[in-house]
Amino acid sequence: MSKFPFDEFADALAANDEYIKTFKYSGLTGTAQKGLAIVTCMDSRINPLSVIGMNSGDAKILRNAGARVTDDVLRTLVLATYLLGVKRILIMPHTNCRMAQVDEAEIHREIDTKYGIDTSELEFKTVADQKASLIEDVNAVRNYRLLNKGVSVGGAIYDVATGKITPIDC
Ligand SMILES: [Zn+2]
Repeated sequence: MSKFPFDEFADALAANDEYIKTFKYSGLTGTAQKGLAIVTCMDSRINPLSVIGMNSGDAKILRNAGARVTDDVLRTLVLATYLLGVKRILIMPHTNCRMAQVDEAEIHREIDTKYGIDTSELEFKTVADQKASLIEDVNAVRNYRLLNKGVSVGGAIYDVATGKITPIDC
């Protein structure tokens, strides 16, 4: 077993030392106080809680490449809607998403060309039409038979240039 790579995480650990000095969330539980779950992309330009004016404790955040609804997202939403207070789910991909600009084959090819690794066993779930994929994903959640009933599910696209979220009819 290798040791923790302290050098690579020095900045994060130092920042955490500061963070705990004024830590104010010890009273929170794991229940989403605002009853919300957000499914969004891993894109580092998105700060999901800030986007909708929420704070630690308010919402569940699920992230992956492209904000896609996968089996693991569904699994997590089932838990969130039965056990963790989630009553509404916002699926929020974003403009300028890499996953919406290339197709599956291009990504595999790029990684193979640059790193010599064949990733073709993975499905990256790229999107050809962002709006169409969002509608598909929203409905996949709405229609998931194991999800708690009465949960509202909506889709919106986050604009990385302006910070605005635009709801999409699904
Ligand atoms: Zn993205």
